[in-house]
Amino acid sequence: DPVPLHSPDRQPEDPDAALRPKSLAEFVGQQAARENLRVFIEAARGRGEAMDHVLFFGPPGLGKTTLAQIVAKELGVGFRATSGPVIAKAGDLAALLTNLEANDVLFIDEIHRLNPVVEEVLYPAMEDRALDLIIGEGPSARSVRIDLPPFTLVGATTRQGLLTTPLRDRFGIPVRLNFYTEDELLQVVMRGARLLDMSIDEGGAREIARRSRGTPRVAGRLLRRVRDFASVAGAKQVSRSVADDALTRLEVDRLGLDAMDRRYLTMIATTYRGGPVGVETLAAGLSEPRDTVEEVIEPYLIQLGLVARTARGRVLNEDGWRHLGLDAPKKSPD
Ligand code: ADP
Repeated sequence: DPVPLHSPDRQPEDPDAALRPKSLAEFVGQQAARENLRVFIEAARGRGEAMDHVLFFGPPGLGKTTLAQIVAKELGVGFRATSGPVIAKAGDLAALLTNLEANDVLFIDEIHRLNPVVEEVLYPAMEDRALDLIIGEGPSARSVRIDLPPFTLVGATTRQGLLTTPLRDRFGIPVRLNFYTEDELLQVVMRGARLLDMSIDEGGAREIARRSRGTPRVAGRLLRRVRDFASVAGAKQVSRSVADDALTRLEVDRLGLDAMDRRYLTMIATTYRGGPVGVETLAAGLSEPRDTVEEVIEPYLIQLGLVARTARGRVLNEDGWRHLGLDAPKKSPD
């Protein structure tokens, strides 16, 4: 299936690659994370050692993979990338680890989806730089310990809480990534336009930034679609009104919400009279996996204050009703 236009999920052909910043200096936003990483990178470089293991966590499209690549580049070491669900067997991970050069970065995306058997192999690798392998079978089986080169594991996950405690505890540098501000996304859009050799004024860029769901990947995707609309319409430059026109046609609303966001909000409002309603019920109603609802759809809506997670389920806030142009039902006195 094609990835929905406005989804922050990565597309297989990864058109984002062209817009990826290549250094910490080029990387916009996430200031606290950047400043801390700079210190750890410099310290590791200065000592000629592998940097401590890093865990990036936060919603999709905020720059976890990009930062992992930048860390390797700034450390001046090799970069290997894989993802949790791809490593099927302990032996696959063993092969990756034994092929690393000293101080390399190994990036594991979706690290919360590692098979538990594979995860067990990772613990001694991270802690003692050792692999415990079982050689042979039956009574002649024996365990051997293989030393690994020093390396930095960089893990990425949407939520820190998805990791098992032993895995989480082995990351010395946990880094949370947050949604970007409009001004930060404005810089992302202006930079993207420059790289795409596209003419846009500040009003046009700001309109895209404001409607990018706080997410650079979405900003890049919207920028490319707006460019398509502008060129077909024969617009020489993307102004605010050109951008607004294109985004409206793409069904990206004033707050940057897409059709799926609005279906989610509308379902709570009309089917469940504003909630509370459980996330499983919503996911079933939307025909989306629960993970997608919790990790892709909800974080931004919660950040905007349109919905709230409560112990009894999701609840539509006053701003959520207002955004849908609906009145909250009068609470029956009970
Ligand atoms: P994640 O791994 O968190 O899903 P990525 O690192 O793949 O996100 O980022 C998605 C895209 O967004 C990148 O290819 C890049 O084009 C863009 N991007 C991410 N962070 C930034 C940033 N801070 N500045 C500029 N562009 C960014």
